[in-house]
Amino acid sequence: MTATKLAPPAERLEQVRAFMAERVLPNERVLNREDAEADALVAELRDEVRALGLWAPHLPPEAGGTGTGFLDYAYLNEQIGRCTWGQLVFGCQAPDAGNGEILHHFGTPEQKERWLRPLVAGELRSFFSMTEPEVPGSDPTTLRTRAVRDGDDWVIDGHKWFSSGADGAGFGIVMAVTDPDAPPHARATQIIVPAETPGVDVVRPVPVLGHAGHGWSTHCEVLYTGVRVPVSNTLGEIGQGFAIAQKRLGPGRIHHVMRWLGQMQRAFDLLCSYALERETFGGPLAEKQTVQNWIADSYAEIQACRLMTLDAAHKIDGGDEARVEISAIKFYAAGVLHDVIDRAVQVHGARGLTDETPLANMLLQARGARIYDGPDEVHRMVVSRRILKSFQRGDGWRFT
Ligand SMILES: Cc1cc2nc3c(=O)[nH]c(=O)nc-3n(C[C@H](O)[C@H](O)[C@H](O)COP(=O)(O)OP(=O)(O)OC[C@H]3O[C@@H](n4cnc5c(N)ncnc54)[C@H](O)[C@@H]3O)c2cc1C
Repeated sequence: MTATKLAPPAERLEQVRAFMAERVLPNERVLNREDAEADALVAELRDEVRALGLWAPHLPPEAGGTGTGFLDYAYLNEQIGRCTWGQLVFGCQAPDAGNGEILHHFGTPEQKERWLRPLVAGELRSFFSMTEPEVPGSDPTTLRTRAVRDGDDWVIDGHKWFSSGADGAGFGIVMAVTDPDAPPHARATQIIVPAETPGVDVVRPVPVLGHAGHGWSTHCEVLYTGVRVPVSNTLGEIGQGFAIAQKRLGPGRIHHVMRWLGQMQRAFDLLCSYALERETFGGPLAEKQTVQNWIADSYAEIQACRLMTLDAAHKIDGGDEARVEISAIKFYAAGVLHDVIDRAVQVHGARGLTDETPLANMLLQARGARIYDGPDEVHRMVVSRRILKSFQRGDGWRFT
């Protein structure tokens, strides 16, 4: 089956589209303020989403969500992604959604009861603490944070940053080296660390492009000094940290890119509408060939991203890891996301840089996409290495 034949879950998709259009987008300016009024509005919108039966669509009902499968959720993300706040309002915000998924797949019954249940219910938030300032995040086998066994406890020492959402979170999942002598991809373990544990210090939200954020929207520096948690807080097997991270990241990248597609399409709408409306030198911008080229290029790139992403989603759903496809969409879509938003900003002139349109905020968010979940260069490396290996085996590369 080709990507174009995948059938979206029409009824839920329409419900999500309508909720985004009627309740979230008109409130975006209030939500962007990230103040007490915005927090109250998020709580109100979340209640409405629950009442509609659309809450936590990334997880199945047995885990507390309303999910109906990986592909369905991929399509929903295209609508949810039209505004940054959509994921928070639908209870599937990063990194909680990914943390929820790995707790669901690898957590013990006790861990699920203590951490997954309140996480999915939206009673607390979480963070994923892997990247460290001193070593390259793109090569996580170099991590320095250590967890040393002491009886029935782990004692964790380390320095992390870019732990998104750590401000005000209830717990973190910390990637720590537990066996420095093991092969590189068996050295690290994921450990659940309650935020109030002595020795956990959320030092500061690190400002990103000048934005420090608040609560969920922060990217925090976190120090772990003699942090003692029971060994029963180990998520999955000891030494399985990278394997679990891979399980989380592969499908997670599909969902990121589907949300980016929502952003791209919104920017495209604004690009086309304003080009028709704004007149310079005796006619609308839509009549200038440069602007027409921007529209045509944006259309082609968005459509290519969409088909590539649905193709990768379909392959994953069929049990394939789709490593080449996922890495290809990660770097390709991150570039298209940036370029389409940037063209839409340009067509708006100075207005595009103000808060009169959502574009300035969208552009700010889009820049990180070329770095988080693996920088562009690393994904290009993965794509080319795998393809070249296939050629070295004499198989060439078949486009399917
Ligand atoms: C908005 C945002 C949110 C994030 N949230 C989280 C989070 O919640 N939890 C978490 O643990 N981390 C998070 N991160 C961190 C992110 O995962 C890392 O930034 C990423 O893995 C890259 O690591 P680094 O920043 O250390 O860059 P480095 O690894 O030091 O790389 C620097 C640059 O080197 C280049 N480079 C690297 N490898 C190669 C190569 N093989 N070939 C060519 N060039 C190369 C790339 O251009 C890269 O940008 C977040 C980052 C951002 C921007």
